[in-house]
Amino acid sequence: MVCGATLEYLENEIKLQCTYCQKEFKGFIRCPNGHFVCDKCHNNQSIQLTKEICSATTSTNPLEIFEKIIESPKIPMLGCHHAFMAAGAFITAIKNEGSFEISENMIKEVYDRTQRQAIGGYCGLTGLCGIAPALGACFAIILGSKCGMDKEQKITMDAVSEIVKSIAELTGPSCCKAYARKSIEIAQNFLERNLQIKLLKSTDKTKCRDTKKHPHGCRKEKCPYY
Ligand SMILES: [Zn+2]
Ligand SMILES: [Zn+2]
Repeated sequence: MVCGATLEYLENEIKLQCTYCQKEFKGFIRCPNGHFVCDKCHNNQSIQLTKEICSATTSTNPLEIFEKIIESPKIPMLGCHHAFMAAGAFITAIKNEGSFEISENMIKEVYDRTQRQAIGGYCGLTGLCGIAPALGACFAIILGSKCGMDKEQKITMDAVSEIVKSIAELTGPSCCKAYARKSIEIAQNFLERNLQIKLLKSTDKTKCRDTKKHPHGCRKEKCPYY
């Protein structure tokens, strides 16, 4: 993100200083040229753009909204901004569909919860990609799920476990773009099946435009969006 070098993914956390905000952090990902970008600085621009596009669109097609966001050359190829972009697109499509009344405060809450569980590199470090809890936050918000609740929590957790499984099936190596697209599709189908909310689906097959930009190597034919 700073100099374009291929990043190093460490096995143990080390002390790092963010090249942008100068604050010190412990982290697992650094550039061989000494650069490090904290999650906040890394995701800022993408989150800003997500908010702008989401507040302007009337679309009820979450994948279409997501593709519109990632079209921008400002969006880094990989990283946890994909969790915010996927959740933003999904909750916005639900809001535009109209069955649930979604306030600005609820959308802000989705981003706040995502912030807590979408942490750079943790897909590999704990097995959980932040896109799953980000979409889980959307279900929790519309259902009012909290710890200790009955079916609201069960539905939220069922949705997240389906998403986690679909992400695992796309791994080897990882790709945030494929994860986000598939997760949105799974969440959309789950919403239709369990809450009878029908969001619009794209008629054309989604084709990735970023094959050459992938630092871990694109999975090509193994990816449904290649
Ligand atoms: Zn660098
Ligand atoms: Zn920073």
